[in-house]
Amino acid sequence: RSRVRNMVSPEKLLYKQPSVLVGRTDVVSVTPWLAPIVWEGTFDPVLVDNIYKPMNLTVATTVFAIGKYVRFLQDFLETAEKHFMVGFHVRYYVFTDRPHDVPSVNLSQGRHLSVIQVPGSNRWQEISARRMEIIQTTIERQIRREADYIFCLDVDSKFHARWGSESLGRLVAVIHPGYYEQTRDRFPYERRPASTAYIPMDEGDYYYGGAMIGGFVEDVYTLTKVCRTRFEEDAGNSIEAAWQEESHLNRYLLDNKPSKVLSPEYLWQDFKAKTKEVKVIRFSGVIKNYADVRPN
Ligand code: UDP
Ligand code: MN
Repeated sequence: RSRVRNMVSPEKLLYKQPSVLVGRTDVVSVTPWLAPIVWEGTFDPVLVDNIYKPMNLTVATTVFAIGKYVRFLQDFLETAEKHFMVGFHVRYYVFTDRPHDVPSVNLSQGRHLSVIQVPGSNRWQEISARRMEIIQTTIERQIRREADYIFCLDVDSKFHARWGSESLGRLVAVIHPGYYEQTRDRFPYERRPASTAYIPMDEGDYYYGGAMIGGFVEDVYTLTKVCRTRFEEDAGNSIEAAWQEESHLNRYLLDNKPSKVLSPEYLWQDFKAKTKEVKVIRFSGVIKNYADVRPN
């Protein structure tokens, strides 16, 4: 599947003249390797939607709801219907060990949900780790033929505002809301050289959040495959990276630069007060009682 075409200007659409001189000055909106960092005010939502819509794309969205995390599905799906890729074809893939507890949510036209049964686990670290493997195998079996782009998201989250076609790219990562004001030596990367996720103190670009990975299906496929292999290699050496797949994701993205970076607007945390540079919170992790939802 490769129906991703050039960006063709929509006919008869009038939009505000882009400026070379006036724009966001309080934040950086491009990485040193020239990938956009997507902030409110750096894109015209109507224009980008009108460019992407004629491509007739399908966006896959994977979400894991294992054990008690099924309780987050309803809000996740209901808010996604309001804000996530509205007007596009969306296919949700819900991975759960409790298929009967998946709520029935009314989906808009062009949107579809499949439930895929996966084993439960007594260790949340393992659930977190197995996401890469399950996404990889589901891309092989199914998603590769059914979608153009994919976003893999944490279920303990809600959408609050538009998350649209401005987020599409070859390899898309999000800046973690907790560390973007810190220097790289303070990032919680894996610091033990024995792990394949190791990042030395004087390396690293941003600290990316593990709650979202996205991009072309094939690029995310390669990412999940590499991270899974490295995770298993570490396990063979009895080592588990500090933040499991988030650590492996950060190592992968240091070597394979994302083509688009989403600002923390696209991954906030409900316990964190909004900062002045964040004009809109689009997606955030809800406050949860770990003792209550995790198996151990
Ligand atoms: N998860 C799950 N069941 C669990 C633990 C985790 O389904 O018992 C999935 C779920 O999709 C969750 C993701 O793994 O959003 C990441 O785990 P969690 O949200 O607990 O990590 P955090 O965001 O708190 O670091
Ligand atoms: Mn989470």
